[in-house]
Amino acid sequence: MLPSFDLYQPQSLGDALQALAKSDEMQPLAGATNLVPDLRGKRETCRSFISLKALDDLRYINREGDRVTVGACTTISDILRDSAMQTDAPALYAAAEIFAGTMVRNAATIGGNICCGSPSADTVPALLTLGAEVTLSSASGERTVPLDEFYVDYKKSVKRADELLTSVSWSIPAVNSVNLFYKLARRKGDAITVTGVAVMIAAQDGVCCSARIALGSVGPTVFRARAAEDLLTGKALDEDLIEQAARTAADQCAPIDDIRASAGYRLQTAFSLTRRLLTQAWKQLA
Ligand SMILES: Cc1cc2nc3c(=O)[nH]c(=O)nc-3n(C[C@H](O)[C@H](O)[C@H](O)COP(=O)(O)OP(=O)(O)OC[C@H]3O[C@@H](n4cnc5c(N)ncnc54)[C@H](O)[C@@H]3O)c2cc1C
Repeated sequence: MLPSFDLYQPQSLGDALQALAKSDEMQPLAGATNLVPDLRGKRETCRSFISLKALDDLRYINREGDRVTVGACTTISDILRDSAMQTDAPALYAAAEIFAGTMVRNAATIGGNICCGSPSADTVPALLTLGAEVTLSSASGERTVPLDEFYVDYKKSVKRADELLTSVSWSIPAVNSVNLFYKLARRKGDAITVTGVAVMIAAQDGVCCSARIALGSVGPTVFRARAAEDLLTGKALDEDLIEQAARTAADQCAPIDDIRASAGYRLQTAFSLTRRLLTQAWKQLA
């Protein structure tokens, strides 16, 4: 059963930020697709929420030059409806396509996905490979944080309790790059990720000039496999180097056993999926 709770419904971002500044107890509620199951399952103890539902100015996709900015309350369905996302953020579009089912996608927001801090949040590996930054706003101002520096531990981030995540932005991938995401789950819809991998590889004159690799569900947070990225940068990729990079990425993982998969299976699939996506990306670039 859903426990009773207080819900404040501000009509403007300013009112929402003022309310958060005044209370230590209020938690934002966006699509509620995480919060309601957590309340029902007694995993959430907060009983005072601030709804972001009426904040239409946080629901947009904006393009300026080569920069894409997405408001925090933009839903996963909104991302799928924006066909330019297929080129402006290929891995994010791929993550949205395999995200939950239609009902959840219609409510779930990108801000909620980032802020829930789950290692299995599907938009996060994609956003990390895009080099995304998030904007955090409070009554006293705003700051921009690279998504890469947002998470500090399992479900913990640098966001303060008086802050809302208001947008996420990134630069459109260069034409000489390939950006891919793969979600391994027990079925193709409405399933939590067992292992998620995203890669972005750029090449110039036959050499990999930039590599980003991000892994989900194989550690306390989604993370970038930096040592593996460093192995690839500045080199022409071949089977051996890709295999070495995939092993290095897997070495950075610290998965757990749970009802979906064993830690060993997650490690093995982190390796094989990284190898697969890097191979596919390099082939596409060639
Ligand atoms: C059936 C089902 C299937 C699912 N499948 C998937 C899946 O395939 N992939 C996946 O990644 N997730 C999945 N989820 C989880 C969930 O839908 C997503 O994480 C979703 O993006 C959460 O967004 P929301 O807007 O519903 O967040 P909410 O539930 O409203 O909030 C989640 C957390 O983020 C905080 N928050 C929300 N917005 C903000 C903000 N703007 N600023 C600061 N804090 C904020 C809230 O306080 C809360 O702590 C699934 C959930 C269900 C119930």
